[in-house]
Amino acid sequence: MSHTKFTKRVAVTGGAGFIGSNLLQSLVPGHSDALFVNMDCLTYAGDLENVASISNAPNYIFERIDIADETSLRACCGRYRFTDVIHLAAETHVDRSIVGPAIFVRTNVAGTLNLLEYARDANEGKNCRFLHVSTDEVYGPVASGVRSREEDRFRPSSPYAASKAAADHLVHAYHTTYGLETIITRCCNTYGPFQFPEKLIPLMITHGLQRRELPVYGDGRQVRDWLYVTDHCAALELVWLRGKSGAAYNIGGGTEVANVDLVRQVCSLLDAASGGEAHESLIRQVADRPGHDRRYALDCSLIERELGWRPRVSLVNGLEATVRWYRDHESWLKRKAGRNG
Ligand code: NAD
Repeated sequence: MSHTKFTKRVAVTGGAGFIGSNLLQSLVPGHSDALFVNMDCLTYAGDLENVASISNAPNYIFERIDIADETSLRACCGRYRFTDVIHLAAETHVDRSIVGPAIFVRTNVAGTLNLLEYARDANEGKNCRFLHVSTDEVYGPVASGVRSREEDRFRPSSPYAASKAAADHLVHAYHTTYGLETIITRCCNTYGPFQFPEKLIPLMITHGLQRRELPVYGDGRQVRDWLYVTDHCAALELVWLRGKSGAAYNIGGGTEVANVDLVRQVCSLLDAASGGEAHESLIRQVADRPGHDRRYALDCSLIERELGWRPRVSLVNGLEATVRWYRDHESWLKRKAGRNG
């Protein structure tokens, strides 16, 4: 296939993971003039089944690439001469980063650096548009009533957040120093179909479906903002197409909720789906995670004002759809149970 017939050739790193696969499922059919190359090394969190619905599309290709391996990354990028990079590949689970931070630095920092170096050299000197997908966790905890703004200082608490913050700084530096066309997004907790069941919402759903205990860290009063994955993907698409070079955009759902209250909401959805069994009695308080931030909250006025983005899916509807999806995808869940890195 001739790649140059496509006006845009877009590397999507981490496209077999949770958000990347949802993003590709919406971008591939929606942009037939663009070729999307899913570059993913398929860690425990990546699964080609997540992108099965688009695997035969004429504008989609999968490449098994480790972004931290500079030689193979360069060789792959050279074949496609990308016009755009949408960078989602990362180690993403905070608990794993506490047990073993090194892989987080390798993938999230060194991997991002390799991609930035490619983008700097790309296209015979012309820049390649680089969208870096980051997280609200780089800002660290904020007091009640305060919302993090894009220009706020970073105070990451976990090795995961620190590795993402380092990557953000590198992206910003490549824009400032080399004039690379970069955009950064910092989103709150995202949930929905295809999320690996180590993260809070799918963990609670899968344990609840199996009538296992629902472990909640500490007093469960840690406050997070939650966004349904299709809303996150819609924001990424807008930022990719229309975001200002050099800018960072916060993306939030505007639905702050304490972890234990969120788990209770999941329980009542499970109760309704199972004909009234009480799931709340399965909740167990467990020792808190070290360095567990009390509250994240984002000021999202920039993306609302500049790009007209707003979340569309309410927490109630998003949770309902998510519980339904996990109930309907038992075989997907069973396969995940055997994959633990
Ligand atoms: P995920 O863990 O579900 O998927 C990560 C993907 O990256 C997997 O497919 C994995 O195989 C791939 N990957 C990991 N290391 C790689 C490497 N060295 N080379 C190539 N591919 C590699 O993650 P997610 O939840 O989809 O998150 C995607 C991005 O969004 C991440 O950068 C994350 O920091 C960011 N983010 C996530 C959330 C959230 O709540 N899930 C919120 C804000 C930002």
